Amino acid sequence: MKIIDLTTALFVGMPITPAPGHYKGFDLERTADFENDGKVVSKYTVGTHTGTHTDSPTHFIPNSITIDQVPLDSLIGPAVLVDMSHVGSGGEVTAKDLEQAASDIKPGDILVIRTDWSKHWDKGDYFKGRPCLSEDAAYWIVNHKIKAIGVDMSGVDPTSQYGVSPKLGGSPIHKILLGNGILITEYLCNLDQISEKRFFIVIMPVKITGAEAAQSRVAAIEGLL
Ligand SMILES: [Zn+2]
Repeated sequence: MKIIDLTTALFVGMPITPAPGHYKGFDLERTADFENDGKVVSKYTVGTHTGTHTDSPTHFIPNSITIDQVPLDSLIGPAVLVDMSHVGSGGEVTAKDLEQAASDIKPGDILVIRTDWSKHWDKGDYFKGRPCLSEDAAYWIVNHKIKAIGVDMSGVDPTSQYGVSPKLGGSPIHKILLGNGILITEYLCNLDQISEKRFFIVIMPVKITGAEAAQSRVAAIEGLL
């Protein structure tokens, strides 16, 4: 059995999305220290979409479930890795790409999309020109009854105006997936270390009552299936 940590660490000074509406920082502060208190205790402040995290349907769908209500069996189980590293900056992962790479995916599987965009994490351009999913790719995921997806970039929607669908408005890919109860985990890393096409994945979001998303610790476990 081999365990691969797919989680991007939170740290002070880490890259933060420029998207509007997000808390622009990660703060870590000591509230007790050895000198004064004989122990160390900290507090941190973080936006719910900073670093590796999972979106629940409530992120875009009114009156849907929040992150604490997401059943863990939606986030733990067999996963299929698709290598989309050929789709570079500004490119789209399409339904055709997914069909070619994962035609054998089963209902209830988790789909992990490797773009290798995580290699831009500390290069200053992580939030600029990343790849995205096309609308037909989102519907392919829905039609194959996939329960959750994971990506190694900061989102699944196009970052430009092309991300506005005439029918769905902004963030159409999030709306298609979350509207069908498909959970989205973003900011994964180390996907190039996974050697099994089909592997076991564990995605554990922090249980925050009423939140639309939360930081997740994510691990691939090889040799289990
Ligand atoms: Zn998010």
